Amino acid sequence: MGEDVYYITSAIPYVNAEPHVGTAYEIIACDMLARHHRMKGRPVHFLTGTDEHSLNVARASAERGISPQEWVDEMVPKWIEVWRRLEISNDDFIRTSEPRHAERVQRFVERLRERDEVYLGIYRGPYCPSCEEFKQEKELVDGNCPIHGIPVEYLEEENYFFPLSKYQDRLLELYKERPTFVMPETRRNEILAFVRGGLQDLSISRTGTDWGIPLPWDDRHVIYVWVDALLNYATAVGFGTDDPLFDRVWPPNAQIIGKDITRFHAVIWPALLMAAGVDVPKVVFGHGFVNVGGEKMSKSKGTGSHPFELLDHFGVDSYRYYFMREIQFGQDGNYSWESMVDRHNADLANGLGNLASRVLAMLGSYFDGIVPEPAADAADDLPTVIEDAVRRYDEHMAVLALSQALGAVWDIVGRANRYLVEKEPWKIAGEEGRRDELAGILYAAAETLRILAIVIRPIMPGAAGRLWDQLGIELPLEDQRLPGDATWGGLAAGTTTTKGDPLFPRLDS
Ligand code: ZN
Repeated sequence: MGEDVYYITSAIPYVNAEPHVGTAYEIIACDMLARHHRMKGRPVHFLTGTDEHSLNVARASAERGISPQEWVDEMVPKWIEVWRRLEISNDDFIRTSEPRHAERVQRFVERLRERDEVYLGIYRGPYCPSCEEFKQEKELVDGNCPIHGIPVEYLEEENYFFPLSKYQDRLLELYKERPTFVMPETRRNEILAFVRGGLQDLSISRTGTDWGIPLPWDDRHVIYVWVDALLNYATAVGFGTDDPLFDRVWPPNAQIIGKDITRFHAVIWPALLMAAGVDVPKVVFGHGFVNVGGEKMSKSKGTGSHPFELLDHFGVDSYRYYFMREIQFGQDGNYSWESMVDRHNADLANGLGNLASRVLAMLGSYFDGIVPEPAADAADDLPTVIEDAVRRYDEHMAVLALSQALGAVWDIVGRANRYLVEKEPWKIAGEEGRRDELAGILYAAAETLRILAIVIRPIMPGAAGRLWDQLGIELPLEDQRLPGDATWGGLAAGTTTTKGDPLFPRLDS
């Protein structure tokens, strides 16, 4: 526990689905948090990956006449390609078909068995092949999966079980002692109600397939895919085989998941960890669904747009910004082409982009691009507005209020654009005897841009870098730290700026 590593994870999506806007939404949120904490000077470990041992993978590969491993090996690069284009800065990528994962999963279940947390029993029940979980009869809607709307199958088999039911009190104690263990509040309340209603033991093995990780003591069984998948968060950081790594990184500080899998992560997952004698994560955050045209973009329905369609048009900075700003993190939200164009033009092209191009153009015209000396009082309330906004940004990020955090940053953009309108430096530039005043105004405006480049970096790393380059600051942007370097007065007079291409060209609707 030497270093205070900020360990953040996304869920690992089913590899046999296509990446879509919903999965991209989740990983952008993780990336914004990871980049933010790196800028706070904290060691960060950001994990994502792919869930590969599903029944659907075995079926899809059989249909194509190839092995499941060949099938997942074909699918994984599609995911990685999308994450690269979205500028996702994950530190590791775990595939559940990797040997490192299998070996450590086996260590984990072996530990459960040693601690008397596994028993053999018979299970029969309704099973949704898309959820890959047994359902409770009372959950079914007209005999169908309540999430997928498809008929359930009835499966009966000899399974090994995890005695989840005996963890009811300990879980309720956990939620009580750590009110932010499940976030947001609505998810927490759902989980509390669910656990108070009683828990059933969990079948943790399956027979009849060899696509999965064999139980170490009974290789007729593979480990239930959900247990296998949940353990990725522990196996990727060395559980059972690399204690120095595991001790340094564990436990996760934030586990970001979709709300439909909150029960797995907020009930089964901590119970498994408790049973193995491992610390539970600090926060499990179940975000909402991203809807287009009112239709839920579920990963299994496959109705979502491919992110490339939007990336090609809007660019990665605008894409990342839009989803984090538009939708309150934790709630469901809608997106549409029109709303993306509107926000791009209002917040980025007319807001931040116009601010940057006006200031850099005036520095070029009136000062040959050289940042002038600051002048006393010229900045008006900009320093205090910025100080307040940066503080609010930081506070919102600490509680994963990502949209509000960006709102705080755009308060700076709004104030700075009004500042220019009030000060009218373009008029002062033509008046004799007001050179110092003009210098003070443009210094203040340029200093505002410097701070903006720092605070937008977690959400728009590319645009932040371009703005930083245009400002001509020699110190590398990646060495800037929050909040210290986002305090007023850091821009050195004499810095040579250049007016480059617009940061965010306007888009036609
Ligand atoms: Zn289902």
